[in-house]
Amino acid sequence: MEHTLPPLAYGYGALEPYIDALTMEIHHSRHHQGYVNNLNNALKDYPDLQRMAVDDLLRSLEAVPEAIRTAVRNHGGGHYNHSLFWTMMKKNGGGQPHGNVAEAITMFFKSFTAFQDEFNTAAKKVFGSGWAWLCINSAGKLEVISTLNQDSPLSQGLQPVLGLDVWEHAYYLKYQNKRPDYINAWWHVIDWAKVEENYQAVLG
Ligand code: MN
Repeated sequence: MEHTLPPLAYGYGALEPYIDALTMEIHHSRHHQGYVNNLNNALKDYPDLQRMAVDDLLRSLEAVPEAIRTAVRNHGGGHYNHSLFWTMMKKNGGGQPHGNVAEAITMFFKSFTAFQDEFNTAAKKVFGSGWAWLCINSAGKLEVISTLNQDSPLSQGLQPVLGLDVWEHAYYLKYQNKRPDYINAWWHVIDWAKVEENYQAVLG
């Protein structure tokens, strides 16, 4: 079973003006496709691993043969992280969270604004390439973390429910070095219904 690039549920221009169409096209059709291709290439001599879902590979990286572990971590992580990322955005998104995840955000961060501040700080502080995440930990609590490169929260035993790609390839064409402007814009395209779905998939 080959891993494949999932199609977007919206057009490349749907997230304008917050995320521009050219960035979305290059990001999806070239960067994400590249992770998919490199993951398939890494797994080509490992039929047992080819049958595994990418999230299961990332949850048990230590069980992946050392010869391909770094490739699976980087390119499997890239494939999983981006597949999730696309689904957490939509045209006319943004606003406030709702449902169980909104209640949990208020419980664990005191307010939505306090959560946003913590998430923004995590996203801004990533040195080099990486991601900021809202995750559910093994105790069922929400936490904000960042990861470097394409490391996935799954490999730390965390389940991501919301994530932001802060690699320069995600924003450089429109925002150049102004990562904080990209972060602020991204809040306008979040699909909170999808975030709620991700939360309920773990905690009901
Ligand atoms: Mn990316």
